[in-house]
Amino acid sequence: MPAPAGSDHYDVLVVGSGPGGATTAARVAETGKRVLLLERGDFLPRERDNWSSQAVFGSAKYTADETFYDLHDRPFRPELHYYVGGNSKVYGAALLRLLPADFGEVQHPDGVAPAWPFSYEDMEPYYARAEHLFWVHGKHGEDPFAGKSSQDYKYPPVRHEPRIQQLSDDLGKLGLHPFHLPLGVQLTQDAQGRATVDSPCIQCDRVDGFPCLLGAKADAEWAVIRPALAGHPNLALMTRTTVERLITDSSGRSVSGVAVTLAGGSQHTFTADIVVLSAGAILSAALLLKSANGKHPQGLANSSDMVGRNYMRHNNLALIAFSREPNPTVFQKTLALNDFYRPGEHWQYPMGHIQMLGKSDDWQIKGAAPHRLGWAPSAPYGQVAKHSIDFWLSSEDLPLAGSRITLRRDGAIKLALQPGNNTEGLSRLRKTFQGMLGKLGMEDMTSVRSLYLHKAFDAAATAHQAGTARFGTEPATSVLDVTCKAHDLDNLYVVDGSFMPSIGAVNPTLTIIANALRVGDHIAERIGTTTPPA
Ligand SMILES: Cc1cc2nc3c(=O)[nH]c(=O)nc-3n(C[C@H](O)[C@H](O)[C@H](O)COP(=O)(O)OP(=O)(O)OC[C@H]3O[C@@H](n4cnc5c(N)ncnc54)[C@H](O)[C@@H]3O)c2cc1C
Repeated sequence: MPAPAGSDHYDVLVVGSGPGGATTAARVAETGKRVLLLERGDFLPRERDNWSSQAVFGSAKYTADETFYDLHDRPFRPELHYYVGGNSKVYGAALLRLLPADFGEVQHPDGVAPAWPFSYEDMEPYYARAEHLFWVHGKHGEDPFAGKSSQDYKYPPVRHEPRIQQLSDDLGKLGLHPFHLPLGVQLTQDAQGRATVDSPCIQCDRVDGFPCLLGAKADAEWAVIRPALAGHPNLALMTRTTVERLITDSSGRSVSGVAVTLAGGSQHTFTADIVVLSAGAILSAALLLKSANGKHPQGLANSSDMVGRNYMRHNNLALIAFSREPNPTVFQKTLALNDFYRPGEHWQYPMGHIQMLGKSDDWQIKGAAPHRLGWAPSAPYGQVAKHSIDFWLSSEDLPLAGSRITLRRDGAIKLALQPGNNTEGLSRLRKTFQGMLGKLGMEDMTSVRSLYLHKAFDAAATAHQAGTARFGTEPATSVLDVTCKAHDLDNLYVVDGSFMPSIGAVNPTLTIIANALRVGDHIAERIGTTTPPA
């Protein structure tokens, strides 16, 4: 996309078009002020390979051609996607709220997940707006462990297909509380809430890890950017424009603009009254460090030495269970459980969250299935896939100062993920849940790394990146204040997952979107408009 006509000065400039940046840009654009959204990637092409396991997981066609270095300086390819919409182009669209307890201190065996500077109740109205913005289908009140909601979802939950409804009933009989997984998808439903055949999602079940060929997934491009560009001529998007550095004014108190490399390779500078950074938790931290100057020798916003530290990404596990009974489900990703989220009868500490994944196909099973299933010793993979049921187990990791993003001497990014960070909860969650599935006739289980974690390196699993510029009330221990403005600078905000002081155990994106709306409201007020949010 070429540079927009007019001056190179904007009221608000946003770096990165993932859910965080897109949401803030769209909210601020409602004020009528000039907003520029800069994105290093292009629009993701809509093509048949969008739905090919081989292309998406086998050859990682849509994954950024990027090399980072791990704790031991070994190179690896992180799970990043440089497109309009950011990583949400391939996300699973499971859009869950953190639980109220996540906003306070949470005691784990390895330490304490720190409290947020405000409560669930403070965040609640933004969660409701975020759910509406990202087309979330769900049912509040079903999960007894969830916080209260002030508003219903706009859309009813995506209905379980018969095998998953049976699983839900069976889990209920074991005393658990399965609920419909809140999902950001476009779905045509009949009056009873049943998905109709013409629903894009029913035709494909290519949500987890796949781009959506039909634009029927609520990624940031389809849910936010396209409607915002159509509705607000004062909002401009520039693709294939990489921000290289943030520039401060001579006092060092304000960011005056950003230096970029344009699509053709030439250099350019854009200036703005307010700059919002949302390049993803890893790349935002790297950009702040890279922008060091005489007034900020340790990197921008880094007088606390906290930029890049406290990196989190969840302890995750994809689990495939095989049941004797066939599982003909097409759209499987409809059920979740929070029974093991809080300390309780199963353990004195939190274990985590469980949700269903999209159904593995033959290609995915081939890399993961045990060679001999007890009940089907010589079943071909296609047959095995018909019996598989797929789950995603997620447990909280802790913000460790040593889990850190730094820049190497050659400028490359080092992601020093500390091993063994609060992992017992995930092991216990797996064991406990497998025991329960065993009671339901699912005997053979295998964990897969290929679905999301398709690289040999643990550090490569960057999907749920968070925490590298945390917000808080103390400038000595946090990078951002409660409005997500850098303590050290008057006009720099950060709205991707880096603001999170702790990550809980549910997928992070709804929280990133809700926070981006909160910060968007604040910026709208700051630039002197009282336009109520759309
Ligand atoms: C396979 C997969 C499945 C997932 N499933 C789920 C799920 O079901 N539910 C959930 O809640 N979350 C899920 N996630 C995580 C979710 O995608 C992220 O939480 C979310 O995208 C984060 O949004 P963000 O705005 O913080 O950053 P990102 O989405 O990372 O966006 C950052 C953007 O900044 C751009 N950028 C970076 N550097 C620059 C630069 N220098 N100049 C210009 N632009 C730049 C990038 O190209 C990108 O577009 C999943 C992620 C993956 C990879």
